Amino acid sequence: MTSYATQQTIPQALIRTQQRINEACQASSRLTHDVMLLAVSKTKPLSAVIEAYNHGQRHFGENYLQDALEKIEGCPHDDIEWHFIGAIQSNKTKSIAAQFDWVHTLDRDKIARRLSQHRPSHLPPLKVLIQVNISNESNKNGVPLKQLEELVDQVSQLPNLLLCGLMCIPAAGQTESSQHHAFNKMAAARDQLNHAYPQIKQLSMGMSGDLTSAIACGSTIVRIGTDIFGARNTLNPEL
Ligand SMILES: *Cc1c(COP(=O)(O)O)cnc(C)c1O
Repeated sequence: MTSYATQQTIPQALIRTQQRINEACQASSRLTHDVMLLAVSKTKPLSAVIEAYNHGQRHFGENYLQDALEKIEGCPHDDIEWHFIGAIQSNKTKSIAAQFDWVHTLDRDKIARRLSQHRPSHLPPLKVLIQVNISNESNKNGVPLKQLEELVDQVSQLPNLLLCGLMCIPAAGQTESSQHHAFNKMAAARDQLNHAYPQIKQLSMGMSGDLTSAIACGSTIVRIGTDIFGARNTLNPEL
């Protein structure tokens, strides 16, 4: 059993996280099964993924390609859905398109075209979410809201991508109300796009620290790392 500072095991942490999701759903009159728990296993060993898998977890999020590929290739279970949630460099699109089921961090047409081009033909279209720079931070990943519609139009024409929704990481250190405001803007953007693009339904927002607020604003995928697996490990800098 893996344990960490609070002496919580991974199975216990999964149960507590699911409870927090259930409570947040109840508080905002939403259905529990409308919110997916994505377990963010970045920097954690394959054994931690398998421990969570054995307790029913099927969706895992990874940020660092090399760290992720070792786990994906070594993993004995083929019913896991792997989500890429890190920054995407062009030279990584081939492996990402071949090894992942979802990408949350698409923010450029060039990367979208490469992912579509590299998606192996025996696999279903890659599910993608467009990352929005919702807090307008300089030097941050994500497309500005003003350019979102243009990118949606481009991405939705690519044959091997299925554009499912939007994702954001609000600026750190904000007040709760400005975070709430950012999440609400995301939900409004999703709702507006949904008229012309009915396949755009997902909202990937909310992490360990802000999942309740994200769910109140309409999140459909919460990305939880620390609350499930404990503090991050340090990775070899080459990864
Ligand atoms: C690391 C990471 C998470 C998980 O964050 P926690 O605070 O550990 O829950 C979620 N989303 C992204 C994009 C991340 O990089």
